[in-house]
Amino acid sequence: MVHRPLRLRLSATALADNWRYLARTGGVETGAAIKADGYGLGAREVMDVLAKAGARDFFVSTWDEAAALGELPEGVRLAVLHGLGPDDGQAANPSPARPVLCSMAQVRRWRAAFGERPCDVMVDTGMHRLGVGAEDLGELDGLAIDTLHSHLACADEPDHPLNAAQLERFRAAKERVAAQRYSLANSAGILLGPDFAFDLTRPGIALYGGAPAPGSDALFAPVVSMEAQVVQRRILPAGEAIGYGATFSAERDLPVAILNAGYADGYPRNMSGAGHAKWAGTLLPLVGRVSMDLVAVDISRAGDVREGDWLGLDFDINAVARQCGIISYEVLTGLNGRFERVWSA
Ligand SMILES: *Cc1c(COP(=O)(O)O)cnc(C)c1O
Repeated sequence: MVHRPLRLRLSATALADNWRYLARTGGVETGAAIKADGYGLGAREVMDVLAKAGARDFFVSTWDEAAALGELPEGVRLAVLHGLGPDDGQAANPSPARPVLCSMAQVRRWRAAFGERPCDVMVDTGMHRLGVGAEDLGELDGLAIDTLHSHLACADEPDHPLNAAQLERFRAAKERVAAQRYSLANSAGILLGPDFAFDLTRPGIALYGGAPAPGSDALFAPVVSMEAQVVQRRILPAGEAIGYGATFSAERDLPVAILNAGYADGYPRNMSGAGHAKWAGTLLPLVGRVSMDLVAVDISRAGDVREGDWLGLDFDINAVARQCGIISYEVLTGLNGRFERVWSA
């Protein structure tokens, strides 16, 4: 493989520890949402780590994502959250995955094409995004439902009245629809308490170190760290400015390192003037604007950093999200294909 000057270091231990924490807290079977290529970390690697930790149920969005996983580890089950669309029959036919049927049109399509092959169903309890409505729950006969799901709209706001309303409606759906298992909670839903756990939970973001609700940062270990290689070391002369917009000027001659990372890689431009690199435990401020593929770092406290050296980039996904006015999900899924992803125990 051609050398890549940009790396994500991914901790299998942290990922597995986060899953175990969620499994203990939920107290029921605990799956993992690995859609969007495992929230940007690499779906196959995430599945392998979590299957080893004990996870049996995995969730992707599309049949394309299901196929990309390749052969599933022994005992692992996979479900496709967007269900069976009009063009999905060919992909679904040989796949071991179950669809999560999320409309009556999908229910009819599945029944016609695949009869009583096991499937999941999503019921809408108030999010009004995907899901079969309560009025249609009597129309599900003939399906072999493995898991009946619903999804919470406001689980990251524990006091929001919709949480209790959705719980109530899901309990009513459970009375009406026979299934092997019932599942309501994502990461934030697990933190709402045991009433929300039912038989199976579907955490995503918290596995990867994202805080699912305000104040929950410390519950989950960081999984991702970032390193970039120095493209060039130079002196920014006193009085001269660096980068687009000339937003930062040196007061005295300043040694700077130009790193191979930028907003095209998912290092957000709003980290300009706020982010830090790291060298042997010392935080080094970024100077000037984050470019598409480059950032500049003040290395006056870093000794003799040179071309080709690797520097860490401070990348607490929850802090980055707050700094940039986005959510940790966007931070992770913005990490692009230019990173070499290096897993360690
Ligand atoms: C993505 C997703 C999840 C995981 O949600 P997190 O907030 O990342 O824990 C669970 N259930 C469904 C239906 C999803 O689409």
